Amino acid sequence: MLTDHLVLSYGLHERMDLYKPRRATKDEILSFHADEYVDFLQRVTPDNIKEFTNVFSKFNIGDDCPIFDGLYDYSTIYAGASLDASRKLISGQSDIAINWSGGLHHAKKFEASGFCYVNDIVLSILNLLRYHARVLYIDIDVHHGDGVQEAFYASDRVMTLSLHKYNGEYFPGTGNYDEIGAGNGKHYSLNVPLQDGIDDESYIRLFKSILEPVLTAFQPGAIVLQCGADSLGCDRLGCFNLNTKAHGECVRFTRSFGIPLLVLGGGGYTPRNVSRLWAYETSICLDVELDSRLPQSLPMIKYFAPDYNLHPNLSGKLENKNTRKYLESVKTQVLEQLRFLNGAPSVQMQIIPPDIEGHDDETDRAIADKHEDDNKDEMDMDLNLKDEKRKGELSV
Ligand SMILES: [Zn+2]
Repeated sequence: MLTDHLVLSYGLHERMDLYKPRRATKDEILSFHADEYVDFLQRVTPDNIKEFTNVFSKFNIGDDCPIFDGLYDYSTIYAGASLDASRKLISGQSDIAINWSGGLHHAKKFEASGFCYVNDIVLSILNLLRYHARVLYIDIDVHHGDGVQEAFYASDRVMTLSLHKYNGEYFPGTGNYDEIGAGNGKHYSLNVPLQDGIDDESYIRLFKSILEPVLTAFQPGAIVLQCGADSLGCDRLGCFNLNTKAHGECVRFTRSFGIPLLVLGGGGYTPRNVSRLWAYETSICLDVELDSRLPQSLPMIKYFAPDYNLHPNLSGKLENKNTRKYLESVKTQVLEQLRFLNGAPSVQMQIIPPDIEGHDDETDRAIADKHEDDNKDEMDMDLNLKDEKRKGELSV
């Protein structure tokens, strides 16, 4: 909500197309998740919780992933938005598509993890793979992007690159540089394990010096960028020293290559800074300069006291434990993987199924019609929301 207020107050909605996406269907969620797990998510509620306690440990339900009212609905809404964003990229309707409510990178095929229930990232990458031979996934959340890495661990069509805090204990406990993929996917999982307190300059230098050779070696047709905001300084769960401008520089640099880009949210536990970051990164995607003083008209402006600035100082709270030597060695380890790739793997693309934009055309139209009826008077913000018209076929 705070991100929305900031984006609207800065007038950024006038510079982009806004869509109200439909929910993900069960079939779409089943393209990655296991039947039994999705059934469980669909049926469990706080009222019938007792009937399901025997499967809680199996599906990793507990402290980090509680059952709450509207859980399945919530999951289908954010996953539907990421899927819709992937469709906009595939159809060429958008060159950059953003879903700040997505980016739930920890969810696994059979289980919830770290506040994530349905992995919208995996679903949207699977959709992009129906059109693009290769997709690059980049994760700048402070936590390892384990769910996405695991999903594509044996695939050479998805390269995953995650920068995160790692010491073997920090959640989720994985993401050392020696996790490189397996089988066909060997050398296609790249991990950049970092220590506490990394600063703006080191992070940006490292990010750029890895991403550029990755793009040259892998040549992706599309990029999915998870912009978890818990890598900012002063995050309640994070432990880095990054400012909004440094985090945003990663988005700017990724965007500069002109490859279709899906931008997603993720973690972030100091809401006033999460919203500042994502509003700023929206402006980067739009190539618009924002006044760093927050607009006076901003609702809930009190959240941004005392500085009322888009770029508060978030650095210097923790000692930087990443020495130059350590970062050099991490970079060398990561780039070493690229030497094993014999140029970009060529993928024999089959004819794309005709339902590429909507999965199931008829269902999709029925949902869209119903959605339209339900929402006719529901628009509480005066936005030019465009109704999606899905065509049956995509010419290749
Ligand atoms: Zn995180």
